[in-house]
Parts: sequence; structure tokens; C-alpha cells
Amino acid sequence: MWAAGVAASPLGRKLGVPVDRAGRVLVQPDLSIPDHPEVFVIGDLASLQDEHGKMLPGVAPVALQQGKWVAKTIARDLEHQPRRNFHYHDKGSLATIGRAAGVAQFPKFSLSGYFAWLSWLFIHIFFLIGFRNRILVMIQWAWSYLTYERGARLITGSNELPGWTASKRQEESESASLKTGT
Ligand SMILES: Cc1cc2nc3c(=O)[nH]c(=O)nc-3n(C[C@H](O)[C@H](O)[C@H](O)COP(=O)(O)OP(=O)(O)OC[C@H]3O[C@@H](n4cnc5c(N)ncnc54)[C@H](O)[C@@H]3O)c2cc1C
Repeated sequence: MWAAGVAASPLGRKLGVPVDRAGRVLVQPDLSIPDHPEVFVIGDLASLQDEHGKMLPGVAPVALQQGKWVAKTIARDLEHQPRRNFHYHDKGSLATIGRAAGVAQFPKFSLSGYFAWLSWLFIHIFFLIGFRNRILVMIQWAWSYLTYERGARLITGSNELPGWTASKRQEESESASLKTGT
């Protein structure tokens, strides 16, 4: 269940090219935008289907592979070689679903329970950049595991954060115009 909801950055709509319902830019198979082969849109802001007509998911591996693909495309352009279409290589999905429980789906097999959770843990740490980050995250996760620290974080207090003040003002003016009936 995905309760957070994802909307694309408003930057996509500013490009003046077709976007989908979530505001993602409908990119060409080489990840460029229509009529502008020199402009690429990748990651969460890009809307692209795979070879089976399925929408590519808004996950980090898609964004990472697209980033590398665009770098290669630019290098190919400089060497005057023809462009190739992007293909997402789905290495599988992992999720933790509680304390020492997880689900893992790889192309050839699936796992659930403790071993899926262990693979989630080690694969995430393995893909972190830098030895220091890996050690830090391992210590933090071990601490949370041992102390039963809650995973949820609530930001409360000051609303003087970028974007908050403007939306608060808008809410206030909307409720004022509702009250006055204007
Ligand atoms: C709560 C949550 C949990 C997630 N968990 C997972 C997970 O477990 N595994 C997974 O694979 N994926 C997960 N994702 C999805 C993953 O985070 C995204 O798919 C990935 O970050 C996409 O990378 P991106 O570079 O396209 O976009 P982002 O990482 O969102 O980077 C876009 C950047 O552009 C900046 N930006 C936006 N507009 C402008 C502008 N006008 N000017 C300048 N900068 C701008 C933003 O501030 C941001 O830094 C999760 C997403 C959310 C919201």
C-alpha cells in the first residue's frame, strides 16, 4: 500500500510538452523530449512505458539507470553515433514489512520473511556510497532494532520553512474568501 502519493515536480509542466495525469513528461524512447533531442527528462519526472506497455515505476533504480543512459547517449552524440532506446533492467524489488520480516522478488525467485528482510538489509547497505555511510547506517539500524525506536518522523513546530509560508497564506486567503462569500 502506497499512502504517500507522488506528484511530479511542477518543472515538468513548464517545458510546454505533453505530460501525463501526474505531471510527468511523456518522453521519447531515448529519454529526450519531443522536438528537442538536446533536452532529456529522467527519473520521477519522466513518463515512459517498457516494451510490454507497462509504465516504468517511480523508483531509484529507474532514475539511476536513466542517468547513466543519458550520459552514454550524450557521449554517442559527440561521436556521431545513432541513438538507442532506453531499456529498464529490473533487478527485482525488496521491501521491509516489519521487524525482521520482508518480501523480495527477483527475476527468477521470490523470498519472504526473515531471509527476505536480511537480503533487504544487506543489499541496501551494499549500495550506499562510501564505507563511512555504510558503517553509520548499520549502527543506526542496529540501534533502532535493539531499542525498538519508532520509524515514523513527525516535523512539528515552526512552519517557517520554504514553501510552507506561501501555502499557509493561500489556505488563509481561501478560508477568508469562503467566510466572506467572495
Ligand atoms: C517516501 C518515499 C519513499 C521511497 N522509497 C523508495 C525505495 O525504498 N526504493 C526506491 O527505489 N525508491 C523509493 N522512492 C522513490 C525514489 O525516491 C525516487 O524514485 C527517486 O528519488 C527519483 O530520483 P530523481 O532523481 O528522479 O528525483 P529526486 O530524487 O526527487 O530528485 C529531484 C531533485 O530535483 C530538485 N528539484 C525539483 N524541482 C526543481 C527545480 N525547479 N529546480 C531545481 N531543482 C529542483 C528536488 O529538490 C530534488 O532534489 C521513494 C520515494 C518516496 C517519496
